[in-house]
Amino acid sequence: MFGKKSTTCTSCGKEIAVHERSWIYMQYPPSGMTNIQKYIELGGEVYCTSCVGKVEKQESN
Ligand SMILES: [Zn+2]
Repeated sequence: MFGKKSTTCTSCGKEIAVHERSWIYMQYPPSGMTNIQKYIELGGEVYCTSCVGKVEKQESN
């Protein structure tokens, strides 16, 4: 997800550009910020800014 692989929005599939703001929806790791990259790779969902509102609506249903 980081590095050479491109990252796409989980909801709409739009590619997230480098330095573009994005949202990563994930469980907070038990070990805090240690190894957070591994945690995001395993369980993080990335959303572009225009999809964040949709996600919040889904969660509240
Ligand atoms: Zn999106």
